[in-house]
Amino acid sequence: MICKKCEVDGNFSWDHDWYDNTGKWRLFDHNMERPHKCSGMTTQASIDTPIQAIPRVKCPQCDPLKDSAWIKRDKFQEHVKTAHFGFW
Ligand SMILES: [Zn+2]
Ligand SMILES: [Zn+2]
Repeated sequence: MICKKCEVDGNFSWDHDWYDNTGKWRLFDHNMERPHKCSGMTTQASIDTPIQAIPRVKCPQCDPLKDSAWIKRDKFQEHVKTAHFGFW
């Protein structure tokens, strides 16, 4: 069958075990004896979303005109301690 995402024709079938475990469908490639990976487009969605999902806060001690004033929230406490320890 043909993968509708990347239009590669192969010896695929739907992986029912994976669906039972994850609730998601994926194709299993019987020629390669491993799950089918779409060429070139599998990584995009998984890389983009987590980076944008982390909220950023603006550091009041940094130069507000610099991009580096925007700190990821989970790094902010650490940033204040290391970068501005002498100013507090
Ligand atoms: Zn594919
Ligand atoms: Zn700062």
